[in-house]
Amino acid sequence: MSATASVAGVAVSPDHYIGGERISSSATFEDVSPIDESHLADIARGGADEVEAAVQAARHAFPAWAALGPEGRGEHLFRIADLIEERTETLAQVETLDNGSLLEASQLRLMKRAATNFRFFAELAIERDRRSWESNGTAYRVRHDPSGVAALITPWNAPFMLETWKCGPALAAGCTVVLKPAEWAPLTASLLGEIADDAGLPAGVLNVVQGLGEEAGAALVTHPGIARISFTGSVETAQLIGQAAARNLTPVSFELGGKSPFLVFPDADLDAAVETATYQYDNAGQVCLAGTRLLIEESIADEFLEGFLAGVAQRKLGDPRDPETDIGPLITHEHLARVEGFVQRAIDDGARLVIGGRVSPDLGSLYYEPTLFTHVRQDLEIVQREVFGPVLTLQTFGDEDEAVELANGTEYGLAATAFTRDDDRGERLGEALVAGTTWINCFYARDLGAPFGGAKRSGIGREGGEWSFDFYADVKTVARRT
Ligand code: NAD
Repeated sequence: MSATASVAGVAVSPDHYIGGERISSSATFEDVSPIDESHLADIARGGADEVEAAVQAARHAFPAWAALGPEGRGEHLFRIADLIEERTETLAQVETLDNGSLLEASQLRLMKRAATNFRFFAELAIERDRRSWESNGTAYRVRHDPSGVAALITPWNAPFMLETWKCGPALAAGCTVVLKPAEWAPLTASLLGEIADDAGLPAGVLNVVQGLGEEAGAALVTHPGIARISFTGSVETAQLIGQAAARNLTPVSFELGGKSPFLVFPDADLDAAVETATYQYDNAGQVCLAGTRLLIEESIADEFLEGFLAGVAQRKLGDPRDPETDIGPLITHEHLARVEGFVQRAIDDGARLVIGGRVSPDLGSLYYEPTLFTHVRQDLEIVQREVFGPVLTLQTFGDEDEAVELANGTEYGLAATAFTRDDDRGERLGEALVAGTTWINCFYARDLGAPFGGAKRSGIGREGGEWSFDFYADVKTVARRT
C-alpha cells in the first residue's frame, strides 16, 4: 500500500482497489491538474498482473453476489448512493482539480446524478417484470441472469458520473466489476473504491485497476475471464477493443464520440435557441453530446449569429473552482495540441475563423477560447470529425430537407438538438435525424430510464433503463409444458 495523496485536502489512495485491498504497483504515472498544471499524485500503473488479480477477485466474488438477488444487492447499492451524497463536496473538489470541470456543476448536479446511478438501477432490478406468457400449451418466462465479470472502461471528461453510470447497472444486474478509469483523471475512481469499502460491499465485487489504456486497458479487454465489456471513449479505441473482444467473443457495449447537429428553424424561440447554443462550449467542449455543428435556417442566420456572439462574449473562461466561471481548461497539453491541429487545418481548408482559435493570453496555457468557424463545406474535416474541444462550426440551410441532409451527413450519430415551435416538424425530425437521442427545444435531458447510445460510428448497443440489464445479464427463456 502506498502513502495517500492529499488532493484539495482530501486523502486519496493512488493504489488499485482489488479484492477489497489497496494494492500498489512497482511503476506509477503522474496525475497533473489541468487548472494550474500542478502535480496531484503518482498513480499505480497497472498491467497484466494487476488485471489478472482483479479479474480473479471479481470471479471469486461473483457467485455469492449473484445469489444475493436484486433485494440483497440493492441494500449495498443504496448504501453506496447514500455515501456518495454525503461525500458530494469531497468528490466534487477532487474531480475538479483532477479534470478541470466546473466545481459548481459537480456540486449541484453531477455527484447527485452519480448517486442516482446506483439507486435507480438497484430499484429497477427489484421492480422489473419477469415477462411470462403462454403459447401452444407452453408457459414461457424471461429471466435476466447475471452474466459474470464486467470490464468497465471510462473516459476523463466526466469521470465519476460515467464510472457510476456503468457500475450502478452492472452491479444491480448481479455482475461483479473491474473498473479501469481514464489515466488523465483517475482520482474519483479511487474514492469510489473507498466508498464501496465503507458501504460494506463484499470484497471483490467492485475492483478498480489504475493504469494506461494500452497497458491495463488492453490487458483487461483481452482477458478470457471477462463476460462483458462496457466502454465509453473514442472510436479509435473502440476499434482496438472490438478486435480484442472478438478473440473471446465477449459482448461489447460502446458509447463513443459525436459530431452532433444543432438545428434552428425560423419558427424557433430564438432566444432559447441562442442561449442553449452557447452552452455547447460547456466543459471546454469536452462533452460527447455537444451540438458542435450549428445548422441555422438562412433567413435567421444573421440574427442568430449576432445573439450567439453576444452570448458567448458573456461566458467567462477561467478557474473552474470560481463560481463565476463558465468554461474551464482543456485536460492536457496532448489534448490541446490535438485541438490546435484541428483549428489550424480548418483555417488551411479555407474556413473563416469568427472567434477564438487560440489559447487565452490572460490565463494558463490550457485555457482555449471558445471558437467558431463559418464558411465551412460539409466535407471539411472540421465538420466531419470530433474535435472534443470548444470549437463549433456554423452552416446555413434553406429548408427542412436540406437541414436533415446536413445533420445526418457525418459518420457519427450520438445526439441531435433542434429548435422549432412546430410540433409536426418536431415529430418529423425525431424520425429523420439519425441519432441515439434527439432533443426538441431542450438539451441534455437524460432520464435514466431512457435508452442511451449512438447510431453509426457513435456506438454499439444501448444502456439505460431495461437496456442496461439486457446487456449485463444473460437473458434466458424458460419454457415449461403446462
Ligand atoms: P479514449 O478512447 O482515449 O480513452 C477512454 C478509455 O479507454 C480510457 O480509460 C483509456 O485508458 C482506455 N483505453 C485506451 N486505449 C485502450 C486500449 N487499447 N484498450 C483498452 N482500453 C483503452 O477516450 P478519451 O480521450 O478518454 O475520451 C474522449 C472520447 O470519449 C471522445 O471521443 C468522447 O466523445 C467520448 N465520450 C463518449 C461518451 C458517450 O457517452 N458516448 C461520453 C464521454 C466521452
